[in-house]
Amino acid sequence: MIFQLYLQGRGVEAIAKQMDALGFPTPAQVAGKRNAGFYWQGSSIKLILQNPHYVGDLVQGRSHTKSVTNKARETVPEEDWVVISDAHEPIILREDFEAVQSLMKSRSVKRPKMKKHLFTNYVYCADCGTSLWYIQFRKGYVCGSFKKHGATACSSHAIKEE
Ligand SMILES: [Zn+2]
Repeated sequence: MIFQLYLQGRGVEAIAKQMDALGFPTPAQVAGKRNAGFYWQGSSIKLILQNPHYVGDLVQGRSHTKSVTNKARETVPEEDWVVISDAHEPIILREDFEAVQSLMKSRSVKRPKMKKHLFTNYVYCADCGTSLWYIQFRKGYVCGSFKKHGATACSSHAIKEE
């Protein structure tokens, strides 16, 4: 569903919202991680869309620990991955997967830079504690949690910039 929605033109944030709306647990929730967030994030959608596991490839060495003494992981450039194609049954068509990869490249270049606003990172929602986001067409700020996850998360708490 995630791949189909992306190919239909939805962005990763919109897909994350839809996953929330349909009540799907996040990968971290499924894995039972203690710090699992309550909502899907665009970044996890993006990781899924880029994961070659879904086309049946076995990919190893996408990240490695920095050194014997430093256990922090760092990502390895794609050309250095160990890829065994068609190692298992795919759940995503290779042509869909490749269409998503090229679409992602073309979409990422034309993203406009976010304009800085006076109170960005200075004002927070009194109800949920999320920072308020500047919304161009409203000429003011709304709760970031409401902006991202809708009315189930918080209410707008709109404040005019003036
Ligand atoms: Zn709020």
